[in-house]
Amino acid sequence: MSLDEMLSRRPNPAGVVRNLDARPIERVAIVTCMDARIAAFGVFGLRLGDAHIIRNAGGVVTSDVIRSLAISQRKLGTRNILLMAHSGCGMLSFTDDEFIAELAEETGQPPTWRPGTFSDPIQHVRHGMQQLRTSPFLVADTTVRGFVFDLHTGAVDEVADEVPGPGRRSGQRQPLVQAATTSSSDG
Ligand SMILES: [Zn+2]
Repeated sequence: MSLDEMLSRRPNPAGVVRNLDARPIERVAIVTCMDARIAAFGVFGLRLGDAHIIRNAGGVVTSDVIRSLAISQRKLGTRNILLMAHSGCGMLSFTDDEFIAELAEETGQPPTWRPGTFSDPIQHVRHGMQQLRTSPFLVADTTVRGFVFDLHTGAVDEVADEVPGPGRRSGQRQPLVQAATTSSSDG
């Protein structure tokens, strides 16, 4: 399909939002990868109007993600952040150094930003959760939860913190996550 053909299609009537309040109903902001195979609302059983979706390559917690979250929280009332990586992410297929060298070679200048590649989605989520929890710009009562989505099975595994506390075991399921699974991400 050409781009013009795609743009000429009628908007989906189902895309009309239920109410016109800009504040997400579930007070949730989801940070995840831009991957074309992830329906961010559907993964968590959410509908239009329920949550903010903040996406970039890899679901990396960048300063611009913090910018959007600060606005999401302080101006639009969200408090729960769901950070989700996924199996088969394109960010696993190259390294920061490789991509910086490629850009520098082709453009004559290195980027001022880090590409943010990673080799382990679970560690990537843990790192992002830590970044979110230590950001001075997010409100004190922010809840941060991390997940890895399996593209093949549709399963969502919660990522436990590095050192499980007394009430949090690795792999613990939470009611918000509707897909059941016994497999872990294959990266
Ligand atoms: Zn990805």
